[in-house]
Amino acid sequence: MKKLLLHVCCAHCAAYTVEHWRREGYEVSGLWYNPNIHPFAEHGKRLEGVKALADKIAMPLVVPESYEMVEFFRRVAGKEAGRCGCCFDLRLEKTARFARENGFDAFTTTLLISPQQKHELIRETAEKIAVEKGVAFLYADLRKRYSDSRHITKPMDLYRQQYCGCIYSEYERYSDRKTK
Ligand code: SF4
Repeated sequence: MKKLLLHVCCAHCAAYTVEHWRREGYEVSGLWYNPNIHPFAEHGKRLEGVKALADKIAMPLVVPESYEMVEFFRRVAGKEAGRCGCCFDLRLEKTARFARENGFDAFTTTLLISPQQKHELIRETAEKIAVEKGVAFLYADLRKRYSDSRHITKPMDLYRQQYCGCIYSEYERYSDRKTK
């Protein structure tokens, strides 16, 4: 069976995505790498949700020790209004590198199920990284299954985030203003 490394952004996006790729015949392992989630306590709450889901569905989960928040801010500094490209690049580059170094056949991300994310930018970024790192990227537009995914996690009573992740998105969520 082919081995797929799935970058996991949160439990609610992972639930259906894992089912999808398992149905496609892949052995799926998760990688939690989200230095874009601030503050650290919020990062911890989302990670706990992902760990609970991984236990429930018997998915191996890799959790690097380092948080790398400083690297996130270095990459977006001066580009805050267009920061999402830097954010996807950081997370997916790490995923692709880990996949290549650990014998996975391909990588993908749960971000592709979210209607709230910049879908085409995620796809373009992942395709570029796949070429650079020499590891296949698996694409599927799962946005129509987003509610199915949330339906799966509903009875699990897992933490639900109120904003995308970075401190800029938290500001935009609660102030109703855009970061300049
Ligand atoms: S809004 Fe979301 S995707 Fe964009 S930089 Fe912030 S955490 Fe990353």
